[in-house]
Amino acid sequence: MSRERILVVEDESDLREVLAYNLSREGYHVLSARDGADGLRQALDKKPDLILLDLMLPDVDGLEVCRRVRLSPTIASTPIIIVTAKGGETDVVLGLGIGADDYLAKPFSVKELVARVKAVLRRGGQVQEGNVRQPIRRGPIRIDPARHEVLVEDEPVRFTATEFRLLQFLATRPGRVYERDELLRRVLGDDTIRMDRNIDVHIRAVRKKLGAHRDMIETVRGVGYKFRDVLNREAGDQPPAR
Ligand code: CA
Repeated sequence: MSRERILVVEDESDLREVLAYNLSREGYHVLSARDGADGLRQALDKKPDLILLDLMLPDVDGLEVCRRVRLSPTIASTPIIIVTAKGGETDVVLGLGIGADDYLAKPFSVKELVARVKAVLRRGGQVQEGNVRQPIRRGPIRIDPARHEVLVEDEPVRFTATEFRLLQFLATRPGRVYERDELLRRVLGDDTIRMDRNIDVHIRAVRKKLGAHRDMIETVRGVGYKFRDVLNREAGDQPPAR
């Protein structure tokens, strides 16, 4: 079985080496880049399975690298974990909706990093091998897993891999209430390092993108979330999953 390849884009050489060493030890093949331009070049040339991307980089910064990856026709779906210098930046970056799959705030432990990498890779794999490939329609929202596309009132809206998976999971099971813990486990993987609030942040991002239809995802006070129980049984629509 070929080893999964991780591209580490980090300008601090000490940190880059620590990351490369530890990820190699976990069995990954590590590629590294010391600036954004080189990172982008390697991402396009070598098509890694995951990119670990520092935010503050000389020349092309992490946000721009992320943006360009997402716009690329060949590597747009590559999972990206962004490393931020301090925790407060995470919400700011998330608010920009640039399409990273996860965020890590410095300083982080190697153990936490490895857990996140594994979780993101696992989710990516699940999305690809998932058997729920048929488009589903829920009211004004249409989700096409095969094309990784969401249409809201027939307008395409760009979702990150994580947001897409969360929306798809809930929309496939309308009316069913999920506790935050269960959503974390089933959508974000069983990475126990995560805090409850993480799922809230992702829900908020998904709702924002649903715009006027944000209330399709309902908050069930004291419990969790559910997708509104609407079923639009037009031709080709899928019944809810059991
Ligand atoms: Ca840096």
